[in-house]
Amino acid sequence: MRRLKLYISADIEGVSGVVHSEHTARNGKEHDRARMYMTQEINACINGALEVGVTEIVVNDSHGTMRNILLEQLHPRAELISGSPKKFAMVEGLNETFDVVIFIGYHTRMGTNGILNHTFHGKAIQTIKINGVDYGEFGLNAALAGYHGVPLVMVSGCDLLSKEATELIPTIHTATVKKTINRTTAQNLSLDRSHEIIKSETIKGIKNKDNIKPFNFKGSLEVEVSFLHSGLADMAEILPIVKRKDTTSVTFTTENILDAYRYIRSIIMMVSSGT
Ligand SMILES: [Zn+2]
Repeated sequence: MRRLKLYISADIEGVSGVVHSEHTARNGKEHDRARMYMTQEINACINGALEVGVTEIVVNDSHGTMRNILLEQLHPRAELISGSPKKFAMVEGLNETFDVVIFIGYHTRMGTNGILNHTFHGKAIQTIKINGVDYGEFGLNAALAGYHGVPLVMVSGCDLLSKEATELIPTIHTATVKKTINRTTAQNLSLDRSHEIIKSETIKGIKNKDNIKPFNFKGSLEVEVSFLHSGLADMAEILPIVKRKDTTSVTFTTENILDAYRYIRSIIMMVSSGT
């Protein structure tokens, strides 16, 4: 049988039933239930992938501590990357040996609508722009997949995340598992229905992989990071590559998205003590 490798990056904010920090925070009362929902949505994706010939599956736990997915409930065919820190955080372990990428449980970027919208750190980051365009976690992680030349074929999350995704990758398949009412209120599909949709969109996405062009940056990148307050920019400015742009923003330049991503993650770690 031909080898077909799938990489899954799994976040939690875009999972059906997840609407509040009680679900997403380590000490939240509903967190363990949300971790179970997250694991089940990943399994629905894996079930679809196995039906269309996927032979190897790596799942990267991409939320917060990156120790959320319940290994005892995860599909036995998957291998799990868990823990942090990781140089490439939400896309750790992704490289050119994979054939397809899928994002599960993703959310919209900070400054837009959508359930639990934020970009990497909700108490620190206002926007991340590359060459003047605002990208969220979806776009930045998609660009890493693109750098490695691997098509990102499916993403699951709320209705507005599906819109954010198709604006960047028009032919991507989307599994919309909840409708946004506001930042902490959603109309959720049942667990069964969300699993059905994730499974069927995974199947369609993998079958259609040759028609989904990887999203990629060309040339050097001008990165601008804006923070929620000036104190965070004061901290980021300590890094020699960084230049202060204005009260709350810094900029830096890199030759490729790999370096840009690592600098962004480094800056977030640096400023975390100031939030
Ligand atoms: Zn998250």
